[in-house]
This record gives sequence, structure tokens and C-alpha cells, in this order.
Amino acid sequence: MTGRIFDIQRFSIHDGPGIRTAVFFKGCPLRCAWCHNPESQSPRPQLMFYAHKCTGCGRCAGVCPNTHTAACTGCGRCADVCRSGAREISGYEITLEEALRTVLRDRAFYETSGGGMTLTGGEPLAQPDFARELLRLCREQGVNTAVETSGFAPWEALEGLLPLLDHVYYDIKGIDPALHRRNTGVSNEVILANAERLKQSGANVVFRMPYIPGFNDGELAAVRAFTEGSPLQLMPYHDTGAGKYAALGRDYPAAAAAAPERAFMTALAEETGAIYEP
Ligand code: SF4
Ligand code: SF4
Repeated sequence: MTGRIFDIQRFSIHDGPGIRTAVFFKGCPLRCAWCHNPESQSPRPQLMFYAHKCTGCGRCAGVCPNTHTAACTGCGRCADVCRSGAREISGYEITLEEALRTVLRDRAFYETSGGGMTLTGGEPLAQPDFARELLRLCREQGVNTAVETSGFAPWEALEGLLPLLDHVYYDIKGIDPALHRRNTGVSNEVILANAERLKQSGANVVFRMPYIPGFNDGELAAVRAFTEGSPLQLMPYHDTGAGKYAALGRDYPAAAAAAPERAFMTALAEETGAIYEP
């Protein structure tokens, strides 16, 4: 069995407790305006071009079957000959065994830090079979497991993973249906229904709200009310993904948003009883 991913990041400290290895699934049904991993959205391999690294050597032009037009298929020939790192292909197939082998490399760090593996993305629930098998293999090896998800999937996809998960980080990006659709491209009906079932399931869940000024910041009170009784973590906007939009030849829909100050987020978390980890 193989899965489509775009990265495996070792020594991650932002994707659950302790030191973790984050497996980034490629493909997501949402199009959040503020997404900081735009290369995660399409399930297909994609060319990323970093113009500031290009030396103008011209090697790439000679190998492209599509003359570098919008018809790019992500074949990767240009990236193979580019020596400056200006061209990269994001996205590849990986076998379960290969993914597990990479995760197990840092087992000693998981044991000393209370860490483990986190499935993230992209949307892990869009590849439920690969996600489940990788979690199962990690569990067999005694590795702590977590998932970060938008919850936009049939309930059965999430339910099938729950017995294999130590932590579930579940995004609630807004309660107002029209605003949610405008910000993410999809309805929040399924997301909220799955969240209700998740609350009843006994899973170790932390709800997360991306806090994006000008997009969904007015939704905080409603999100706090919806998640009452469960932990809610605030994830403030940052613009680290901006360069990736340029590399994909796309406009960044949230370019005008401003990153909130730490002190402001700390006060907001205190006021609402939410978690904020600067
Ligand atoms: S990945 Fe590179 S070589 Fe392949 S079609 Fe796209 S631009 Fe051309
Ligand atoms: S091969 Fe790389 S460095 Fe050379 S022109 Fe193409 S993108 Fe630029």
C-alpha cells in the first residue's frame, strides 16, 4: 500500500506533545484562504519554482515536454536538472514500510520527550486506508500517535482511526455557515456533525481554531460555545506560506491579514479559557 505525501518532517514540536515526526498528506478538500501549506491542497505532484534561486542557466528549458507552459504535468524533469534548487516537485508516493522506517528513526526521542508520530497535511482523512495502516504499524511499535484534521470527511473515515489515536487535533474554523464556505470553499455541516460525535466518542480531542484577523476572528465566541467542555487551542495567523503561493504561481488570498501580537493572543486565550502556545 502507498500514500501520497509531500513531506515527512522530523523533530517537530508543534504537532502534539514532545518531539514528533509529522507525515504531511497531499490532497485536501478545503481551500482555506490562509492555508500556509498551499502545496498540500492538490493531490497531484506539483512543480514549485523559486525565482530568487534561479541562476538563468537554461537547463530546465531544454527538457520540458510542455515548454514550461500552464500545461505543466509535474513530471519533474526540470527539477531533476536544476542545480540551484529553484525547481522542486512537491508530492510523491510512499510505501507504508518506507514511511514507518522514517518514523522509527527517532523512536529514542519519542521515548525521552513523550512524542511520537502525527498525521497532518493536507487532509489525512482523505486517504483513510493509508492513514489507518500507518497508525496501526506505529501502535504495534509502541509509538504515540496523533492526527491533525479538518474533519471534512465521512464520519466512518475518522471513526476507523480513533482506536489507533492517542491525540486528535480537530479544526473548527467557524460556525457561521456562509462565512465558513467563503473562507474555506466548503460547508461546515459535516465538520460540526463529526465534531459532535467526536465529543461523545471519548477520544482525547483538542479542538483548534485558526484565528485569522479579517477572516474568522469574529467567530471566536461561537466556536468557544460550540467546544464548551473540551479544550480549545487558538492558532494565530502567520504568513510563512506566502512564498509558497508565489512558487506555485498563485495569489495568496490572505496576504492582507496581519499576524496578531503575542500579548493580544495571550489575553484572548485567558479571556476565553482557550489554550495558546506562542
Ligand atoms: S515539471 Fe518541469 S519539465 Fe515537467 S512539465 Fe512541468 S515545467 Fe515541464
Ligand atoms: S535549471 Fe534551475 S537555475 Fe537553471 S534556468 Fe532552470 S530554474 Fe533556473
